[in-house]
Amino acid sequence: MLVLTGIGTLVTNDVTLERGKLGVINNAALVVGDDNKVALACEAVNLPRELRTNAVDIGGRAVIPGFVDSHTHLVFGGDRALEFEARMSGKPYTAGGIRTTMSATRGASNDTLAENARRLANEALHTGTTTLETKSGYGLSVLDETRSLQVATSITSETTFLGAHVVPPDSQIDDYVNLVCGEMLAQCAPSAKWIDVFCDRGAFEVDHARAILSAGAKAGLGMRIHANQLQHGGGVQLGVELGVASCDHCTHLNDADISALADSNGSTVATLLPTAELCTRSQFPDARRLIDAGVTVALASDCNPGSSYTTSMPLVISLAVLNMNMTCEEAVWSATAGGAAALRRQDIGTLRIGASADFTVLNTPSYIHLAYRPGVKLVDAVFRLGGCVAGSLL
Ligand SMILES: [Zn+2]
Repeated sequence: MLVLTGIGTLVTNDVTLERGKLGVINNAALVVGDDNKVALACEAVNLPRELRTNAVDIGGRAVIPGFVDSHTHLVFGGDRALEFEARMSGKPYTAGGIRTTMSATRGASNDTLAENARRLANEALHTGTTTLETKSGYGLSVLDETRSLQVATSITSETTFLGAHVVPPDSQIDDYVNLVCGEMLAQCAPSAKWIDVFCDRGAFEVDHARAILSAGAKAGLGMRIHANQLQHGGGVQLGVELGVASCDHCTHLNDADISALADSNGSTVATLLPTAELCTRSQFPDARRLIDAGVTVALASDCNPGSSYTTSMPLVISLAVLNMNMTCEEAVWSATAGGAAALRRQDIGTLRIGASADFTVLNTPSYIHLAYRPGVKLVDAVFRLGGCVAGSLL
């Protein structure tokens, strides 16, 4: 059993407390049971006397649920620093750069891919991410997609088959879609929980995306989609129509897209990835418009070597507040409970009683500092299943 007291601000995301969207308890205590789940979250003065003896006083620091980063691409070889420099010198970003990483990924051993993915997952952990989703999508052949997913399963249970990232060179799109829906899916499905498609300019059209997602669903995978990042298109509408867990990017939306997302009543989440806009110097999505319409919004890092090479959810929160008109409260919710909703998980992204004891101790008195102090290391300690897995309380 672990008992923390002296928590300046405890974010629980427990709406039943009737303490706002974040379920904030000030001057709080948090108790983790022997089952590694939250046993109690309350004001410290209400902590039962028998639990006070071994309590650890954290001196007024804030505690928040661990971040749930529901969109990353951590399995790849090489990096694209030179492409980044070229783009910063004025060359526009297109999806074609994915093929550069494809070559490096195909050339990398399983051990090299696993080591790189683990390094990035560990980097994410140290900035407070306790659950992350990650995808294949840089192998683009049956063999390389299959081994990419096997690597992905070594770092997370939230694995996504993204054979339909782009069409590899020397393939015809119809042939490739058939391969993705056939042999590639059959080989990859045992290591995947989700299927995803990049439905955008330079990648896959709506009809192909529909065929691929439907094939994945038939194979027992949950659906998610990359949609409306580079231009307006039918990806978001398709996602809602098919009932995907999340439409990711949502940078270019019209009123009909927003209504469709809102009408899903939270069943399809809009996951915004502002570091992708930051790193490509693109227009940020309008989070305010989505939230005001009643859409459930998640925030994620989109960590990948081309358009968003960061694992930092605190940076994502800063951008969401400073560039996308989200409140601090909304951004923290979207990076925790929102990410969990995008993965259809109820056991994480919250510190309500019974939830997995995954949480982060900040070196500040409030969650507000995550946006207020951009780029600064604010994480003191990260706990997963009640155990300290990064940093320390000292
Ligand atoms: Zn992505």
